[in-house]
Amino acid sequence: MAKREKLEELKARTREIIRRLKRAYPGAKCSLNHSNPFELLVATILSAQCTDERVNIVTADLFRKYTKPEDYLKVSPRELEKDIQSTGFFRNKTKSIQGTSKLLTEEYGSEVPHTMDELLELPGVARKTANVVLGNAFGVKAGVVVDTHVTRLSHRLNFTQEKTAEKIEQDLIEIVPKRDWVIFPHLMIYHGRKICKARNPLCDQCTIEKQCPSSFLKTGLPPPS
Ligand code: SF4
Repeated sequence: MAKREKLEELKARTREIIRRLKRAYPGAKCSLNHSNPFELLVATILSAQCTDERVNIVTADLFRKYTKPEDYLKVSPRELEKDIQSTGFFRNKTKSIQGTSKLLTEEYGSEVPHTMDELLELPGVARKTANVVLGNAFGVKAGVVVDTHVTRLSHRLNFTQEKTAEKIEQDLIEIVPKRDWVIFPHLMIYHGRKICKARNPLCDQCTIEKQCPSSFLKTGLPPPS
């Protein structure tokens, strides 16, 4: 992969890409259904290794049965495992949800905290989950969510050459204007699902083709995955 261009050029290209994607996806937003920060926290824990679509099917019933952290502590792990089974990794997710619920009731009056440090103390909550909750439930711009779509597109767009989510996030923080830290991953996810797919990206239909160094129209090669 080519080295990133000079920082100022890269920032200008990134701003143009964001501008074009905002125009292409004016309704881009968090696709996990939720009506409060706690529901978003649970949905994000469930979304690990699972599609948002599947999580939304599961939470449609789950959020009727459990409305607050205390509710998740009233049932046995076995019962909660059954309720979330179809999202995969249900034993670990049950431990995370019940562990998080316990800490929220004991330390935070059953409310979801508003800071990165506090969120990272919750069992099963890593930076990605914390960023999703802070950005989408509280409007706090603490960082940039990095998932598989953000990773793939960031490599193709040569925003980063890093491999780990933490380092990719640091590169993105450097070039994405802070005002766009929350919308940016949504734009990447929408574009990744619709056009810049993992296999067979539709470069000939892409609104940011001119700004993309990996377009097969330029390279004649399939973009790196
Ligand atoms: S030009 Fe192709 S590789 Fe580049 S962002 Fe668009 S679809 Fe993805």
